[in-house]
Amino acid sequence: MVWLNVDKPTKKCTLHMNESCTYLQKKSETLNKGIGNLKRDGEWLSFSDPKLAKLYHQSNLPEYEFIDHC
Ligand SMILES: [Zn+2]
Repeated sequence: MVWLNVDKPTKKCTLHMNESCTYLQKKSETLNKGIGNLKRDGEWLSFSDPKLAKLYHQSNLPEYEFIDHC
């Protein structure tokens, strides 16, 4: 499973593929960012395959910068 951090204020989609990544370890539901739940600042989305995360970015948020984090 991979995770895409959709960040609306910075218009970035950051892909995390390594489960030991500190960003993934710190990932949590917050007031302004949900997990699989779009909030004011965005959301964390999980995908079974990184290709699907890239497809989601291209289809839904092409104006956002895509970052391969880990
Ligand atoms: Zn990462």
